[in-house]
Amino acid sequence: MSKFTADPVLIAGAGPTGISTALALGARGIPATIFEADPEDRDRSGSRAIYVHGSTLRTLDKVSPGLAGKLVDEGLVWPTRRTMWRGKKVFERTYDNPGGSGDIPHFSSIPQETTEEYMLEAVDEAGIDIHWDCAVEAVDTSDDGVRVETSDGREWDARYLVGADGGGSTVRKEIGASFEGDQSDNSFIIADIDEVEEDQWPLERLFHYDDPQVDGRNVMLVPFTGAWRLDIQCHEDDDPDELIKDEKMREFVRTVMGEQYEENVSWVSSYRFLQVMADTFVDEHRRVLLAGEAAHLLAPFGARGMNSGIADADEAAGAIAAAIGANRPTARDEIELYAARREAAAEYNLKAAGTALEYLQGDNPITNLRKEAAAVLADYFELAGEYLDDAPYGPHTAPPIVTTGNY
Ligand SMILES: Cc1cc2nc3c(=O)[nH]c(=O)nc-3n(C[C@H](O)[C@H](O)[C@H](O)COP(=O)(O)OP(=O)(O)OC[C@H]3O[C@@H](n4cnc5c(N)ncnc54)[C@H](O)[C@@H]3O)c2cc1C
Repeated sequence: MSKFTADPVLIAGAGPTGISTALALGARGIPATIFEADPEDRDRSGSRAIYVHGSTLRTLDKVSPGLAGKLVDEGLVWPTRRTMWRGKKVFERTYDNPGGSGDIPHFSSIPQETTEEYMLEAVDEAGIDIHWDCAVEAVDTSDDGVRVETSDGREWDARYLVGADGGGSTVRKEIGASFEGDQSDNSFIIADIDEVEEDQWPLERLFHYDDPQVDGRNVMLVPFTGAWRLDIQCHEDDDPDELIKDEKMREFVRTVMGEQYEENVSWVSSYRFLQVMADTFVDEHRRVLLAGEAAHLLAPFGARGMNSGIADADEAAGAIAAAIGANRPTARDEIELYAARREAAAEYNLKAAGTALEYLQGDNPITNLRKEAAAVLADYFELAGEYLDDAPYGPHTAPPIVTTGNY
């Protein structure tokens, strides 16, 4: 087997976490090489992150000046929040500006596929190498560094490895970390519906509790560049495979959005969301750092998945930069600090996404009573409607220890 001494840092995975890690290392003057299991011409379409938070945009702009501007120009900021309760409007608010600070709005609503395209452009401009079609297969660490075996039969030596290889992470398995947690009780149907030229649905984020038009299921609709994300929460006894069939989806779309959209379903899938985190984010020798979905999988309510993966990426790069310039015991401390901070953040993010999930699953009688009461009071008090509008996304607060971003 041929051995290669690569850049000081190797990264497994060219998803948003791996790419951001490479950019964040580059911004600190540290070269890195990315290994990606998929081929370069892979198809990354599909329903994934659409909500990029302002704090994440600021992190990206710090590590790659100009990147946030592209995501803002290409994305959109929906101005209106509206909530319905069993056919009755309980809350609506329209903002006359995009919030945030400076040129960075409160958020940008943009498909993950496009976000990744701009990130890859930035990686290319920064001269960072990506080895496509090249999966990390084995990882061996020692006090001195890490050796990685890739699917093309090569071995690579480096000082650190960042495992950003997603939920099924090989790196996580190789360092012996466990990955346990819960699954949502309900299935959720997620569909992306392309925009139409005329008779367009308004640019609003809509949540409809127990929508009578779709047999009392919860429905969420969120616009992003060129399309809408439709999210239907199945009843516990629904068969999601039946509901995502073409004819049934067309019926849902026709009923919720109008017949002009029914032929425009570009992607549909059903999920039971996982709430899982690794029991450690680092290996025993403090040479491997797990980041993004390799470290934690969150239900998407509150949009903490990619946003927190990018926060992991920036913090991993900061820890590695500090460790590379340090003596050995201090270097160990820097990596341990990464683990301590990001494990605490992941626990917090999991709890926040879990709060949203629990609220939506609706099996807590007190929460259900509160929802019913708020729906009645919403006719008289805006605050009651605002509670119903806010609650499906969980708390807005950030983990107690974050040095980058809000997640
Ligand atoms: C329906 C839905 C909606 C979502 N909405 C949002 C949202 O609005 N906001 C938000 O922040 N998040 C959202 N998320 C979550 C977001 O999509 C993920 O958190 C994000 O993709 C995780 O990025 P990642 O880079 O950690 O992992 P991935 O995107 O999974 O990337 C991992 C990469 O590693 C590669 N890989 C795998 N194994 C290997 C290997 N052995 N060697 C090398 N490479 C490997 C994979 O091919 C892949 O390219 C949503 C998710 C879903 C499903």
